[in-house]
Amino acid sequence: MNKLNALIFTCLAFICNSLFAQSPVQLYGKLQVNGSHVTAENGNKISLAGTSLFWSNAGDTSDYYNAETINFLSENWGIGIVRAAMGVKETWDEGRGYIDSPAVQKEKIKKVIDAAIANNIYVIVDWHTHEAERYTTEAVQFFSEIAEEYGTYDHIIYEVYNEPITQNWNTIKSYSETVIDAIREKDPDNLIIVGNREWSQRVDEAAASPINDVNTAYTLHFYSGTHKQWLRDRVSLAMTNGIAIFVTEWGSTNADGNGGVDTEETERWINFLKENHISHLNWSISDKLESSSIINFQKGLDGLKNDELSTSGQLVKDLILDQRITLSIDEFNFKSGALTVYPNPTSDFIFIPKIFQKEQFIITDINGKILEFVSPKSDTINLSKYPTGIYILQLRKAGEVISSELVLKN
Ligand code: MG
Repeated sequence: MNKLNALIFTCLAFICNSLFAQSPVQLYGKLQVNGSHVTAENGNKISLAGTSLFWSNAGDTSDYYNAETINFLSENWGIGIVRAAMGVKETWDEGRGYIDSPAVQKEKIKKVIDAAIANNIYVIVDWHTHEAERYTTEAVQFFSEIAEEYGTYDHIIYEVYNEPITQNWNTIKSYSETVIDAIREKDPDNLIIVGNREWSQRVDEAAASPINDVNTAYTLHFYSGTHKQWLRDRVSLAMTNGIAIFVTEWGSTNADGNGGVDTEETERWINFLKENHISHLNWSISDKLESSSIINFQKGLDGLKNDELSTSGQLVKDLILDQRITLSIDEFNFKSGALTVYPNPTSDFIFIPKIFQKEQFIITDINGKILEFVSPKSDTINLSKYPTGIYILQLRKAGEVISSELVLKN
């Protein structure tokens, strides 16, 4: 075995392990608004699936704001994203919300953020209130701190207003611009999401007068028992008018969280979101006594781990598992032979046999993070812009992975 083959062999074991469960942030990088889509950093259209936690200031659910919950959902359900719904102030919260208990709430939210980063999944930090403009000063302070501490992580997404109800778009927009300015002072680039009137269903109003920012998308919330094709039509129109949509909350039940689970309408919605490359998070990880809770009443963290799930919870788990991101060893077929890569190592070009010149190639780094999609249309692929290191060149034919080759760039 020559030196190069020995190196490749050593790397192969490592790569197979690291690719077996590919993590969303490794794969997609920093999320980016591109026209009417929130895409991966490289512009690829994606649809992430995940879960929202329940109001962080609630007193009628077990506490799921902890690393154990996030670890479990990431490892076992394959969530690509989680949402920390930080309760701001409610008449019923007995002082538990951020306005009255900022230190307690910040600690809860940071536990979720840190766990999301550790699992390499995305995390939405949500200012969960129906009247955010009443707490603009506090929102500016809170999001500035979060942006300063976490703004360099690709994982972080800021949701500055959960659900306005009757506030007009000008009020929502003006509040959001103030908070966005504060975030951008600390974090110039991560994704921001803004709610809109009628419990974040008036994406049409946002589309008519969007916010001027480098990376802002708009919230859509739906509940399958209440919201049907008319709301999907509204989303399509808003996208046609140029804004990107992010479903930070959806439920399989009625909009009040109760009523039966509408499985058929839920499937219509999820198919629509996948087809339109819209990301979505289910409401909610909770064991409160209501239909939209994922875990059975008062079953706590053990209930989640033991699969003691509600009708909605079981449906949601299946839908998320269906969208889980993994690149298995089968997909990353290291039995090379279909493609001969030469020269290897290379300092600039590798040659592509004529029969593959119409196919799609993907270049990833050693961790499987996609760096570039390439359609050669000639007999070479140019790697000169990449630093010295080991890369994977994956050949796809009609969407299927034919082979993955290690390439040493010197
Ligand atoms: Mg940033």
